[in-house]
Amino acid sequence: MRAMVLERPRTPLVPREHAAPAPAAGEILIEIAACGVCRTDLHVVDGELPNSKLPLVPGHEIVGRVAAMGAAVEGLAVSERVGVPWLGATCGICPYCRSGRENLCDRALFTGYTRDGGYATHAIADARYCFPLPERRDDAEIAPFLCAGLIGWRSYRMAGATASDGEDAGPRALGLYGFGAAAHILAQIATWQGRRIYAFTRVGDEAAQAFAKSLGAVWAGGSDEVPPEPLDAAIIFAPVGALVPMALKAVKKGGRVVCGGIHMSDIPRFPYRLLWEERQVLSVANLTRADALEFLALVPQAGVKTAVTRYPLAAANDALSDLRTGRLQGAAVLTP
Ligand SMILES: [Zn+2]
Ligand SMILES: [Zn+2]
Repeated sequence: MRAMVLERPRTPLVPREHAAPAPAAGEILIEIAACGVCRTDLHVVDGELPNSKLPLVPGHEIVGRVAAMGAAVEGLAVSERVGVPWLGATCGICPYCRSGRENLCDRALFTGYTRDGGYATHAIADARYCFPLPERRDDAEIAPFLCAGLIGWRSYRMAGATASDGEDAGPRALGLYGFGAAAHILAQIATWQGRRIYAFTRVGDEAAQAFAKSLGAVWAGGSDEVPPEPLDAAIIFAPVGALVPMALKAVKKGGRVVCGGIHMSDIPRFPYRLLWEERQVLSVANLTRADALEFLALVPQAGVKTAVTRYPLAAANDALSDLRTGRLQGAAVLTP
């Protein structure tokens, strides 16, 4: 197998070749067809997240086919198409696992962070955390659902939205700060549910603002702008702590500001009056398998399409640097 490997944080990934491992009991070997490039990968490569496995194969938006199965794998078949998300395994016995919050598991393993991921031709995964993916859609186009889609969905739920779309089902006016891979998927679902999306981008990024409007946003502007109506809730996908007080300023009384990323620059000090009147600031960590099943069932109903920029596996460093500088629209995807 071939892989792009992080040997030390803050150094470029290097190509490596070795024999594909055999799956142990409960595991599958996947022949990878596509792997999305997520902002979290950047945080890992840049050393902003501590204690990653090293050397490490990054990547946690894997789409591929089952090439081999270890003993005791249930519910999957060889050559079936599967997706592998960020949540790679949980302990099943800690208080979080036992209370439906496996995303907070004390001993979780994360794909492309504490176990090897998908910047490769093959990967090993715990079969219980893989999802069968219906055929008919292009591998690269569905890869971003495995993290950008799922984390966006969990953030959306934390903002008060639900899978139904009645008047009482959460925010009507929803702000999205940072219009990258996650926001471009979520905007389509929220618009389909009849919500009004306000998209905030880097100041002066007219291409991203036009992109947001093309996906249904009723308004798009710079993150320093005040939206034309007060927001019921806002989700911050950009890793910029300064957006927290800005979003608090934009939400109504009782409104929520959800931080959707795994890492953020420091939040600047702000006056209590921005939080007053029962405004809330929340963070979203990881995903549960239940989130994934709910989201993946909704995607075809909402007719979500993804905008992807494809890179060959060997160009993983280019994909990361384009994501870092904001040079791409939608999601970057590696194909072996
Ligand atoms: Zn646990
Ligand atoms: Zn991710």
